[in-house]
Amino acid sequence: MRMSKLLMPTLREVPAEAEITSHKLMLRAGLIRKLAAGIYSYLPLGLKFYKKVENIVREEMDRAGAQELLMAALLPAEAYMASGRWEVFGPNMFKLKDRNDRDFCLGPTHEELFTQTMINEVHSYKEYPKTLYQIQTKYRDEARPRFGLMRGREFVMKDAYSFDLDEAGLDKSYKIMYDAYCRIFTRLGLDFTIVDADSGAMGGSGSQEFMVKSPVGEDGIAYCDSCGYAANYEKAECVPERKPSEEGEKPLEKIHTPNAHTIEELVAFMGAEPYNFAKTIIYKADDKYVAVMVRGDREVNEVKLKNLLGCTDDPELAEPAAVREITHAEVGFAGPVGIGIPVYADKEIELMENFIVGANETDMHYKNVRLGRDFTPELFADIRTIETGDKCPHCGGEIKTAQGIEVGHIFKLGTKYSDALGLKYLDENGKSQTVIMGCYGIGVSRCLAAVIEQCNDENGIIFPVSVAPYEAVVIPVNNKQEEQMHLAEEIYDRLKAEGIDALFDDRAERAGVKFKDADLIGVPVRIVVGKKCGEGIVEYKERAGESAVEKTVNDAVADVVKFIKENR
Ligand code: ATP
Ligand code: MG
Repeated sequence: MRMSKLLMPTLREVPAEAEITSHKLMLRAGLIRKLAAGIYSYLPLGLKFYKKVENIVREEMDRAGAQELLMAALLPAEAYMASGRWEVFGPNMFKLKDRNDRDFCLGPTHEELFTQTMINEVHSYKEYPKTLYQIQTKYRDEARPRFGLMRGREFVMKDAYSFDLDEAGLDKSYKIMYDAYCRIFTRLGLDFTIVDADSGAMGGSGSQEFMVKSPVGEDGIAYCDSCGYAANYEKAECVPERKPSEEGEKPLEKIHTPNAHTIEELVAFMGAEPYNFAKTIIYKADDKYVAVMVRGDREVNEVKLKNLLGCTDDPELAEPAAVREITHAEVGFAGPVGIGIPVYADKEIELMENFIVGANETDMHYKNVRLGRDFTPELFADIRTIETGDKCPHCGGEIKTAQGIEVGHIFKLGTKYSDALGLKYLDENGKSQTVIMGCYGIGVSRCLAAVIEQCNDENGIIFPVSVAPYEAVVIPVNNKQEEQMHLAEEIYDRLKAEGIDALFDDRAERAGVKFKDADLIGVPVRIVVGKKCGEGIVEYKERAGESAVEKTVNDAVADVVKFIKENR
């Protein structure tokens, strides 16, 4: 491609709307442009990048024996109503009506439709197992679309669904997808971690997420270097820890704590440690109020809480008015003693003695609180978020934590959708059996952001060859020098003849501008034709490499071809 013909609107300035590196670089390199919050167009370079990623996903799905099909994105409501997800998705689902007032949605994910397809098209047990997939645009009206392609409202997902006769079949289909995912993310050049994930509300017997560790990731992951355990925060099992406290039975004491609202203020006021406190937080869970307790230095994990309570909606912090009504006090003084709503306590609370809680009275706390004597929770359960330094639940080693970008998710669904929609088969004996399903998603467009988030430096993107929009660029230093232009074009033609997807920077720009652009758009390798062109000497430089090396034209071309073919 001649760069003079390319639509490549690179920007020198960092766009104000972008907070994270990948988003900034995708805008600056002219890969994408925003249309509305979470909705983007792909410009030519962005589309080439996208297609390379998509192609890797497709190749590996095909290699794994999955079959591609393509569903509509505009979907009639019925199947989602039958599964209950018309309500479950709530405001996340884009809903609309046609001219005859029929309900439709823009598909957020397609379990229902694939299940329906199997019901309609497959009738004999002999046709199982099957894994079907599509690479398709999904729509979710996310509460916080942000970070460019990372969390879009329109985004591309590869979604696959496996259909098996029994659990053993599902295990096999799941493993095949697991292996395919490992190949995909490796080929994308991503450094990824596989974590155990929560399968709570979705039912199902197992689930794993493919995470790219990154400070901008929105998911917390806990891992142990000693035994290889890794799980996301929702799934990670917390080992309760006992901290020192005053021993022996002491009488419950009410103390005046004026102007101390936060744990920090209380710690200072009372001369205690944060772990001597128990926080009591009031949640609204499906129209019921519950009090949730964790140690003062811990945080509640709302997904664990949701699974424990089995509520349909995500639990929400109770509004201040409700807190005042329940506790008869200002917000910040809730406690378990005599609160009058069910109390759910983290397992660690069970190990505490003589601790401090809110007294359900403004500016008052209780100290020397004891379980059993002063209050009794409904239940002790693991409802806190794991932290760095916790004990590994598998080997007792030390847990470390990191943020991760969820690029893929594989899930043993079991019979959730086949039961809801009636996907059955007749076995050899003519007996009706339920089909066992798995589902497997990759955020194809999110992968683009993840790749750039991992592969960049202060000058721009450093594309892995496997997904680079263009593989090489030939840059004549001075367009006015005919000799340079000729040689550069000849090198460009030779690279093309070798099957290299090359750029020729024939633009009438200063050399500095050309170099900056080549770096910004992350071309993996470049050949610069300059002063020594008359001697047949050019410069070869890999984008990720340190410095340019002079080579003969033949060597430079051969090295580009070798480098690209080895790294594709
Ligand atoms: P998240 O927790 O990030 O919202 P999810 O768990 O709801 O994602 P899944 O339903 O598991 O997402 O979808 C499969 C894959 O699709 C995810 O692993 C992720 O890579 C991608 N994905 C989900 N939501 C978005 C989005 N809003 N924008 C881009 N990619 C997304
Ligand atoms: Mg997920």
